[in-house]
Amino acid sequence: MTRVLAAERVEVALDAHAEVGEGPVWDATSGELVWVDIPRHLVHRLHPGSGRVESFDAGQPVSAVALRSAGGLVLALRDGFGLLDRQTGDLQLACAVEREQTANRMNDGKCDSTGRFWAGTMALDMSPGAGALYRLGTDLEVVQVLRPVSVSNGLAWSRDDRTMYFIDSTTNGVDAFDYTPGSGRIGNRRRLIAVAPDDGLPDGMTVDAEGFLWVALWDGWAVRRYAPDGTLDLVVQLPTAQITSCAFGGETLDELYVTSASGGLAEQARHDQPHAGAIFQVRTGVEGLPPQEFAG
Ligand code: CA
Repeated sequence: MTRVLAAERVEVALDAHAEVGEGPVWDATSGELVWVDIPRHLVHRLHPGSGRVESFDAGQPVSAVALRSAGGLVLALRDGFGLLDRQTGDLQLACAVEREQTANRMNDGKCDSTGRFWAGTMALDMSPGAGALYRLGTDLEVVQVLRPVSVSNGLAWSRDDRTMYFIDSTTNGVDAFDYTPGSGRIGNRRRLIAVAPDDGLPDGMTVDAEGFLWVALWDGWAVRRYAPDGTLDLVVQLPTAQITSCAFGGETLDELYVTSASGGLAEQARHDQPHAGAIFQVRTGVEGLPPQEFAG
C-alpha cells in the first residue's frame, strides 16, 4: 500500500524564491547543498546548519552541476559542459554542445560510477524531439548517447549499476535501460514507471541506499518513491506545485532536499504558494547515497 507523508512533515530549508531551482547535489566536504536557478544563471551553495548562501553567476543558463574529484564543479550550461574553479571563480567551457541551436539549452545531468557526466538538452519551447542526451567523458570528449529526446531530465543508476533510469518528461514516465558501466553503453529501453498526466510531469530524480527511486513531479506537488520494480511506495506531499528535483544530504545522508520553481506561476498561484521556489528538507527515515563525482 502506498504511504503518504503529509506536507506538514516538510521543512523549508531556504525560501530561495528560485525561478527554476534545480540540480541539488550534496557536498559532504563543506556540508553544503549545491543547486542552480536555471534562468537566473546562478549556482548556489546552501549551508543548512547556518543558513549561509553563496552564489555564483555563470553568465548563461545553468541547469545541472556535479562535484569534480579534482575540485570545483562540472556544469551543464546553455553552451555545453563547463568547469568551474571554486577558488578562483574561473569558468571554462570544456566542450560545446548544440551551441548553434539557439532554440535549445542543456537540462538535467548526473555523474555515473566511473566519473563521466551525463546531461541532455531540450528546446526552450519544449518542441518534441528537439533534444538529445550526451555524456562528457573524463577525457573531456562528448558523446551523443540518445536521440531524439524532448525534455531530457532526471538520470540515475540502480544499485548494481546494471540499469540506468532516465526521464524524458513529456513522455510522462521513467524509462529503464540495460547499462554497461565500463563502456557506458545503454540499450533495451523500456517503460518502468508511468505517471498519469494529472499527477504532474516527472522531472529530476535520485536513487536511495535501498535502490528505490525518488521522482520529483512538476505541477504534481510531490516527490514519489518507487521500488526498483516500479511499484509506488511513498508520496511526499509538498506545499508548492512545481517540484523539480531531489537529492539526499546531511551528515548521514538521511535528509531529502527538494528543489522547486516559482517561474510561470500566475499571480493568484504565487499568493497561494508562498514557498514556491523554496528548498525543502524532508526526513524520510531512508538514507541516500553520496553523489558520484566527475573524474575528468
Ligand atoms: Ca529538471
